[in-house]
Amino acid sequence: MEVKTSLLDNMIGVGDMVLLEPLNEDSFIENLRSRFDHNEIYTYIGSVVISMNPYRSLPIYTPQKVEEYRNRNFYELSPHIYALADEAYRSLRDQDKDQCILITGESGAGKTEASKLVMSYVAAVCGKGQEVNKVKEQLLQSNPVLEAFGNAKTMRNDNSSRFGKYMDIEFDFKGDPLGGVISNYLLEKSRVCKQPRGERNFHIFYQLLSGASDDTLLKLKLDRDFSKYNYLSLDSANVNGLDDAASFRTVRNAMQIVGFMEDEVQSVLELVAAVLKLGNIEFKPESRVNGFDESRVKDKNGETTGGLDNRAFSYRTVEAKMEKMSTTLNVAQAYYARDALAKNLYSRLFSWLVTRINESIKVGPLFAKTRHKVMGVLDIYGFEIFEDNSFEQFIINYCNEKLQQIFIELTLREEQEEYIREDIEWTNIVYFNNAVICDLIENNQNGILAMLDEECLRPGTVTDDTFLDKLNTICAEHQHFESRLSKNSKFLTDHSLPHSCFRIQHYAGKVLYRVEGFVDKNNDLLYRDLSQAMYKATHSLMRQLFPEGNPAKVNLKRPPTAGFQFKASVGVLMKNLQTKNPNYIRCIKPNDKKVAHIFTDSLVCHQVRYLGLMENVRVRRAGYAFRQPYESCLKRYKMLCKTTWPQWRGPARDGVAVLLTDCSVPTEEFAYGRSKIFIRNPRTLFTLEERRRAC
Ligand code: ADP
Ligand code: MG
Repeated sequence: MEVKTSLLDNMIGVGDMVLLEPLNEDSFIENLRSRFDHNEIYTYIGSVVISMNPYRSLPIYTPQKVEEYRNRNFYELSPHIYALADEAYRSLRDQDKDQCILITGESGAGKTEASKLVMSYVAAVCGKGQEVNKVKEQLLQSNPVLEAFGNAKTMRNDNSSRFGKYMDIEFDFKGDPLGGVISNYLLEKSRVCKQPRGERNFHIFYQLLSGASDDTLLKLKLDRDFSKYNYLSLDSANVNGLDDAASFRTVRNAMQIVGFMEDEVQSVLELVAAVLKLGNIEFKPESRVNGFDESRVKDKNGETTGGLDNRAFSYRTVEAKMEKMSTTLNVAQAYYARDALAKNLYSRLFSWLVTRINESIKVGPLFAKTRHKVMGVLDIYGFEIFEDNSFEQFIINYCNEKLQQIFIELTLREEQEEYIREDIEWTNIVYFNNAVICDLIENNQNGILAMLDEECLRPGTVTDDTFLDKLNTICAEHQHFESRLSKNSKFLTDHSLPHSCFRIQHYAGKVLYRVEGFVDKNNDLLYRDLSQAMYKATHSLMRQLFPEGNPAKVNLKRPPTAGFQFKASVGVLMKNLQTKNPNYIRCIKPNDKKVAHIFTDSLVCHQVRYLGLMENVRVRRAGYAFRQPYESCLKRYKMLCKTTWPQWRGPARDGVAVLLTDCSVPTEEFAYGRSKIFIRNPRTLFTLEERRRAC
């Protein structure tokens, strides 16, 4: 972090929280508010960018702005996300340091917009030329495709990402983009069948029905009317400000640019249609056979299921010790099977899209073997605390704990490393380390995920409640043991807990999880009969999505659980991030009405707290709040001293020493690093600035 002296000039509030005097939560919030009121939505904490969602379009992303921020030093202009993007890109290009952009904040805070701004800035300033432009276009156009299939309107955000996304953009030695790789994390597939009140299903369903031509709909045997489909919620199908039909054209166009063949697009739309139709299949009870309830598909017209073998919904084959047994499914079980299939089909389709996009955007064979410079952009669902929190929230919040971990590790590490590099003594800072929470969730022996897996694999009757019992027993024991060591266990067992719930003290707050569905969602099993029915379908993409349905490929091994897979992929992600130089964007939501101009103190305050922003400022200010290369410091303040004005001949470091002594800055106020001067107190800087202005 450099001294951003220009941040003190003509500025609303202070542009860098490190300069805030006095520093407390109130002044911090007040600074954010006054800047927000004046359309200054970005504020720094050193090199971290705080971004307030303005909820309206501001004229600050023009090509002129791009030019303004291009190749300028971080502290020369007012805070902007472009400054961060520029710094990251230049240090990648010129210093050969791989970068990652870590964007955090709660749902609706502006993470996805921020990630797109970073990408478009980098696209604007990096190399030009036909080949390069094609790569850029493809990388940028992957966004609308993934958003159509992976985003939905929620209470918090009309365009909420319901999956986590990490994208590595790869560059050659000149800094020209070569391609990229996208990783996706856990799509919230339960949304396919059911949406909370006031929310919608994934955008693509509405886009297809509103935007496709009559001809296409006829071919897909779909009706334009949303209300015909059980899986589409009625109360909020039309969202103000969302033009589904226009978006459909954008998505089609984007798919084409990314490189989807026309028949691939058709296949994808057919499967989207299949999901809608699955939702309309209904079951009725059938006469009892052998005393068992049995179900039949109500509509015998094979149309709705697109030729699907309906029997898959009525029977379930269980294989045990070389024996096959067929049991019947009752009506409730048949509905359950139907929904499981729809969710699986859709989420597999989504993963297929990511794979397909990756195929298009991957680095061409010509460059595949050369060394690449990499910029990773992480846009992952933010922390979620709802009234009803389920397995999805548990997983999402676990991921956010891991990100917070990396934030703590890397900011502190970065700070420490700079001190070492500059040969300055390092003072340790006390901060809240959330490692205990990560451990509670992911510990291989007695972490919650491990216990859930153990329970899922245990023979005998396994229910959500047996899982909860186990959790309570083991965590309580663990807690007892822990509490002797430390007072702050994060698994909260008090007697006010509602039935079938457990509570975790996350770094961002207490969250109550309802165990209902944990076992099932973690198992994520699909009856084999259904996969086989899918595989039997004549649709080639469908077959690709259900390879385990191939009867020739009998694989009795259980697929890994959802929790296990997620933990593994988050582990890989963390390792990847740790090898890169981090750049942080901390997004804040000013109000929960999704409107412009409103700044709700309590809401902002909560986010500032759990994002640990105050601690972040304190870390920056501990020891030495500011540092600046000797040259820049001399250049800015040389006018304050006769010996250095107008020109200092000699090493800049000596010039700064002369200058500070001449200005009577007490010696304990600064330290000489190898290339930078370190200043302890913000006030010292203000004094210098005031004197400079008075000159
Ligand atoms: P998140 O990904 O954090 O859930 P989004 O990035 O989707 O949130 O932002 C939610 C909405 O807020 C966007 O659809 C957009 O309307 C608005 N928004 C976010 N960032 C900006 C910005 N920088 N300028 C204007 N509007 C924004
Ligand atoms: Mg998002």
